[in-house]
Formats: sequence, structure tokens, C-alpha cells
Amino acid sequence: MNVVVLLGAPGAGKGTQAPLLAARLGIPVVATGDIFRAAVRDGTPLGMEARRYMDAGQLVPDEITVKLLLDRLARPDAAAGVILDGFPRTGVQAQALDKALAERGQAVSAAVLVDVPADELERRMSGRWICRASGHPYHETFSPPKSAGVCDLDGSDLYQRADDRPETIRARLDQQLGALTEVIDHYRASGVIASVDGLQGIDAVGAAIDVALSEHGVAPLAGQVS
Ligand SMILES: [Zn+2]
Repeated sequence: MNVVVLLGAPGAGKGTQAPLLAARLGIPVVATGDIFRAAVRDGTPLGMEARRYMDAGQLVPDEITVKLLLDRLARPDAAAGVILDGFPRTGVQAQALDKALAERGQAVSAAVLVDVPADELERRMSGRWICRASGHPYHETFSPPKSAGVCDLDGSDLYQRADDRPETIRARLDQQLGALTEVIDHYRASGVIASVDGLQGIDAVGAAIDVALSEHGVAPLAGQVS
């Protein structure tokens, strides 16, 4: 089975590529958030354990997350493989995943990095404004209002949430890139990193991902439209 890890900073376009890649490879995207929700909904023992941490506002421990992931990998729709989105997020998690897969005679086939430079990520993540009346979203660069600071739809003021202010974004990005670099280094050391230029358009990034994956022996299933 193919275990593909999808890596990219927030704003790199990873979320756009995940379902497109899943369709081309004919394997599901597995996101830890969805796994947690499903396990809690189904009331499985692991789900109940995960829920205790989530209810307490704590992170679910890595060993529980890895067990939930392995359970998910054992489901019929994942027989040909999975695309992991959102896990691992740290070097320690990457090691835990490797160990758990190795116990089953499996391994990460490829770790695809949608690579976008930090200053471009900052540009994409910043510049968000929303209107006071209805929360209509705008972006300084990508979808500016017709007149600065005013909502096109209802004429109310635009403001920036604390989360969207430049200083908050820079601090968050530094933190996330630090963890991402750990994960990239881990997979580079094990020879499975497949880096693609994330500055291209959506289709070009997708095509680059396919080329990078084929170099690691991951190709669309026979009969799948690519
Ligand atoms: Zn508005």
C-alpha cells in the first residue's frame, strides 16, 4: 500500500491539492481531525480516550493518534493506500508513525512537500479583512473591496481580526515552519521527501506532484483517470 504524507505550510495550497491527488491516485485523504471526530462519534475505546483529552482542551497524545491512524489504514477503502494530511506535524510524530508502520511491515512511500517560501506564505496569510456587519471576507491582494476599508455588499467598515494582524501571523508562521522543518528533515533523511514548487498554478503543482511521486514508485491505480 502507498502511504503518502502531504506536507506544506498553511497557505501553501496543500488543502487544495489533497482531494485532487486523492482522486488521481484513487486513495482517500486521511486527516487526523476527521479521524478524531469519527472515533468519538462511533464511541470506540480509542475514541473515548481521545475525547477525554479534547474535552480537557489538551492535545491528543501521539500514541493514541497513531493507533487511530493505523485503525483507519486497516479499513477497506485504504487497501491501496492513503494520503495523510495534518499528521505528522513534528519530528517526534514522524518517528512514532515510522515505528508503528514498520511493526506492520509498512513504511511511508513518499512525503510530498508543497514548497512555498516563507515571505510568500506571509503575503498569502496576511491582508485579510472582514466587514463588521456580516463578516464578508476580503483580501488586500486577492479580493480587495472596490473602495478601501468599505464592504462592497453592505457598506460597513472592514477590520482585521487579531489572528489576521501581521505580527500575529509572523509569530504563528515561525512556529509552524519550525515544526514543519523538523518533519521535512526527518523524511529527507529517510530518502522519501518529494518537494514540488508551490508557487505554480494549481494544475502545474498537481502535475509536479505526480512526477515527484512516480519517482518514489507511487503512481495512479490502473484504471484510474489521471
Ligand atoms: Zn459586508
